[in-house]
Amino acid sequence: MKIDGVFIFIGYVPNTESLEGLIELNKWKEIVVDKDMRTNVIGVFAAGDSIQKRYRQVTTAVADGTIAALSAADYINNLKKVEAE
Ligand SMILES: Cc1cc2nc3c(=O)[nH]c(=O)nc-3n(C[C@H](O)[C@H](O)[C@H](O)COP(=O)(O)OP(=O)(O)OC[C@H]3O[C@@H](n4cnc5c(N)ncnc54)[C@H](O)[C@@H]3O)c2cc1C
Repeated sequence: MKIDGVFIFIGYVPNTESLEGLIELNKWKEIVVDKDMRTNVIGVFAAGDSIQKRYRQVTTAVADGTIAALSAADYINNLKKVEAE
């Protein structure tokens, strides 16, 4: 068969093995987050294909990343406020 290229199907299991027992994962090994991309561990955020969600596209990954970054900044700013008090 003459072909110009191949896409190798690597499956849907995210590379989250190293997080097992540290961060809450669902039965598909996806990271469980809330709407602000917070995990169950305070100060740890997740985004993109590795999280529990329905649609995995570049646009959804980018949006998740924006939310996670803003949430992380918010978290750090609140820590600084508490330290200053
Ligand atoms: C064949 C294919 C076609 C697709 N076509 C489209 C499309 O047409 N349009 C569309 O919108 N979306 C498409 N998608 C989906 C889109 O690519 C993903 O939703 C998007 O790339 C997710 O971005 P991400 O940053 O979460 O993950 P990724 O882009 O997968 O980036 C994760 C990065 O983390 C790295 N990494 C993994 N484990 C570790 C580790 N332990 N330490 C350090 N780094 C690590 C990986 O090497 C990778 O660079 C396609 C996906 C595939 C597989």
